[in-house]
Amino acid sequence: MDILAHALWTNLAYWNADTSTRLWATAFGVAPDALSFGPELVRSMVSRQAKKWRKVDESTFEDINRTIPRWVFRLYDITHSIPIWSVVFFGWWWLVGSMPLAYLGWLGHILVDIPTHSKRFFPTPFLWPLSDYKFDGISWGVRWFMIANYGSLAVTYLIVMLAAWT
Ligand SMILES: [Zn+2]
Repeated sequence: MDILAHALWTNLAYWNADTSTRLWATAFGVAPDALSFGPELVRSMVSRQAKKWRKVDESTFEDINRTIPRWVFRLYDITHSIPIWSVVFFGWWWLVGSMPLAYLGWLGHILVDIPTHSKRFFPTPFLWPLSDYKFDGISWGVRWFMIANYGSLAVTYLIVMLAAWT
C-alpha cells in the first residue's frame, strides 16, 4: 500500500490508544517504506530525478523498477520481513519487560502489504531471509484500488469522528 494510506490506517488502528502510543505506532507504520525509499528519494532529488516518483502506477512499474538501485530492494527485504520484525519485537519485550505495543504498527504494515503488492512492483518479502516466497497480490497502484482504499478511509474517519462527537 502507499505510504500515506499506511499512516492513515495505522493512526485509525490506534485511535483509542494514548496519543504517544498512537503517534509512535503511526511512525512505525510508515517506517518500513520510509527507511527503504527515503534515502533513494533524497538521492534522486539531489540528482534531479525525483520526477519518476510522482507517477507510480501500474503503467510505470517496470520503468521505475529499472531505475531503482539494488540496495533499495535489500532495505525493502529487511524492513518488510516478519522474521526480522519478530526478533526486534520479542527481543525488545524480553529486554524492556513490557510489550512494545506501538511496534505492532510495523507488523501491521507488513501484513497489509502482502495482499496489496503484485509481483510487478515490490512484492512483500515477508519471510526473508528464511524464504524468498512472495505473494502475488493486487497492486495498490491500480486506480480502482486507490479509490476503494481512500474511499474506505474517508468513510471510516467520518464514522470515528462522528462517534467522538456524540
Ligand atoms: Zn511497504
